[in-house]
Amino acid sequence: MRRKLVVGNWKMFGRLARNQALLETVRAETRNFTNVDCAVCVPFPYLSQVQSLLNGSRIAWGAQNMSQHEEGAYTGEVAPGMLQEFGCKYVILGHSERRAIYLESDEAVAEKFESAIKSGLTPILCVGETLAERDGGITEQVVARQLDAVIAKSGVQALAKAVVAYEPVWAIGTGKTATPDQAQAVHAFIRQRVAAADGKVAAGLCILYGGSVKPNNAAELFAKVDIDGGLIGGASLVAEDFAAICSAGN
Ligand code: PEP
Repeated sequence: MRRKLVVGNWKMFGRLARNQALLETVRAETRNFTNVDCAVCVPFPYLSQVQSLLNGSRIAWGAQNMSQHEEGAYTGEVAPGMLQEFGCKYVILGHSERRAIYLESDEAVAEKFESAIKSGLTPILCVGETLAERDGGITEQVVARQLDAVIAKSGVQALAKAVVAYEPVWAIGTGKTATPDQAQAVHAFIRQRVAAADGKVAAGLCILYGGSVKPNNAAELFAKVDIDGGLIGGASLVAEDFAAICSAGN
């Protein structure tokens, strides 16, 4: 039986005082939840603050990107070992904003994925199609390509230590959510694709849905058989909304 997981992606939002207020409320409101795992992925400068605020709580934390390299002359980059020093459990990799704005290729994402696994971090691998790709009928092709790049580099067994997030690009930050049936269809496709390589890994794989998940649509999405929780952008910045979404997974 897979556990539900709800992860907040703060993107490039946050200030010390706001973070504290947000996390104190989320921590208090989720303290009695037993059936859902919760986490927040925050900007690098706040990892130390978040570590202090969440230590000993049920909420894990992580980053939103990292370098594939261990260390070296890579100005502006952050190494996996650095994330570990701040207690990170998760690292989001291949978010569509990284792919689109910073031109991260499938191969670069696969290298980061491999490096995260080797470092003991749990990668949250984001996959998903643009609106043009969906309209062009190539959603499955795109998602398969993004997934296969990682499997080719790290092997299907690596997915036993990872999370996949299906995030249709057209639904991220737009207020347009994939319908539960649309999301379920792609989640089932992802699970089948992994099952073709390893049935056990596929059965245990946590596949999150991301794209305008809100308190009013979370329960319906999370009720679908292959949807194991959510990756939450905008709503993770509002304490009551994030807690309500975690509650939907509980
Ligand atoms: C995201 O940033 O991964 C995301 C899903 O954002 P939103 O919930 O705001 O659509």
